[in-house]
Amino acid sequence: MKKYVCDACGYIYDPEVGDPDNGIAPGTSFEDLPDDWLCPLCSVGKDEFSETE
Ligand SMILES: [Zn+2]
Repeated sequence: MKKYVCDACGYIYDPEVGDPDNGIAPGTSFEDLPDDWLCPLCSVGKDEFSETE
């Protein structure tokens, strides 16, 4: 699964880790995040994220 980086703050969403603080279980791919999921650091939407290695 691919990682995604927040263009605004540099936070990296790692699917293997998920975002447990916001109810996202480990193993959740970026594509499967809810559309209203926000960057946990700066609260921008998914459309502000870019695919990364
Ligand atoms: Zn961010």
